[in-house]
Amino acid sequence: MRVIVVGSGIVGASIAYHLAAEGAEVLTVDGADQGQATAAGAGVVFPWLLRGTPPSMTALGLGAAEHYPRLVEALVAAGVDDTGYVPVGGITVAEDGPMLDEMHDALLRLREQPQMVGLGEVERLAPGEPAGAFPVLRDDLAGLYVSGVVRVDGRRMRDALAQAAAAHGAERRSGGASLTVAGSGVTGVAVDGETIGADAVVVAGGAWSRALCEPIGVALPVFPQRGQILHLDLPGHDTGSWPIIRTLYEHYLLAFPGGRVVAGATRESGVGFDHRVTARGLHKVLTDALAIAPGLDDGTVAEVRVGFRPLSPDGAPLLGGIDGLDGLVVATGLGPIGLTLGPYLGALAADLALGRDAPLDLTPYRPDRPVPHHSDRPDHTVSDASQSS
Ligand SMILES: Cc1cc2nc3c(=O)[nH]c(=O)nc-3n(C[C@H](O)[C@H](O)[C@H](O)COP(=O)(O)OP(=O)(O)OC[C@H]3O[C@@H](n4cnc5c(N)ncnc54)[C@H](O)[C@@H]3O)c2cc1C
Repeated sequence: MRVIVVGSGIVGASIAYHLAAEGAEVLTVDGADQGQATAAGAGVVFPWLLRGTPPSMTALGLGAAEHYPRLVEALVAAGVDDTGYVPVGGITVAEDGPMLDEMHDALLRLREQPQMVGLGEVERLAPGEPAGAFPVLRDDLAGLYVSGVVRVDGRRMRDALAQAAAAHGAERRSGGASLTVAGSGVTGVAVDGETIGADAVVVAGGAWSRALCEPIGVALPVFPQRGQILHLDLPGHDTGSWPIIRTLYEHYLLAFPGGRVVAGATRESGVGFDHRVTARGLHKVLTDALAIAPGLDDGTVAEVRVGFRPLSPDGAPLLGGIDGLDGLVVATGLGPIGLTLGPYLGALAADLALGRDAPLDLTPYRPDRPVPHHSDRPDHTVSDASQSS
């Protein structure tokens, strides 16, 4: 069976890997649009969830929690060990007080459920303890530690999946694709004037998926939400194993090896694909970061990444076919949690492209479901890899 995957962010790369590993003939086409979300994403992986996310996401989150470690093991077993996936744990920081106590109790209750086992240890931290683990933090902040939180470098995970797909024979092509249709079915894609046929085409074009499907009369409810995210370097700091720091609000800090600290991120709807670092965006991210981590004030500004989260109006992804149109599977719309759920969404999409049933009810994710009215999508409050702790 020949399948074309349009888009090679974390979702498309996962689809290609899972298809190729099942013996399908795979071609990935990627247009390298400026602002690929995967290349800009922070890297908080917290699938258990999910304050502020729709209840329909629970099944996906639990599936992803189970799938991710298995996927990483399979990649490593196949000789692809630079996955960027590191369980460093996470601390939610706040002023000491009842809010953290309540969250602590809620997480302990959650952890008793068998499917939440990956949450790991949950520990209430006294004022000053978070700064012991993440030394640039304010030392009056208390916290809540969860050992199961994982840091993933989206670029490395994407490339690891693509490398593993290639090892199974998947091919790759650069260029913008458009869909080709005959009768009531999608027959393949056109790239640079060349038509390439396939038994199935999977749309994994992130925030650009709407533009890809519009010419064939399919109006996908997915819109770009801009994220500006700041990378700072702290020479001399051994940051590789620092935990992820989350707040009760939308900002967070991650550390990567080599003194790199990442502070995220803006959530801007209604700006289309405007790929700029703005004064307001940078100010917001920097102000939020320094408010909890004054020790960053001497950091070197290394870069600001800008990405477009593929956001649906109801916050749930788009996964499945379109009624009346054969040969097409859509897999996108993960908004702020695509580095967390993307690899699993990719596995499910691969199953659908191969004509298999998914192991969960996909009705809430139908790409042609009714969704709230959208005028370039107002903000909603789900944070990057959001949520409960
Ligand atoms: C600042 C920021 C921080 C984030 N932090 C987190 C986080 O901490 N945790 C988390 O879980 N998630 C996070 N996310 C969300 C996550 O990054 C995204 O949900 C995820 O990367 C989306 O992946 P994707 O593969 O669907 O889309 P993308 O990564 O955007 O990839 C889509 C690809 O499709 C290609 N394409 C589109 N149309 C065509 C076409 N017609 N022809 C060829 N190619 C095409 C594009 O060029 C692009 O390469 C963050 C996002 C941002 C922007």
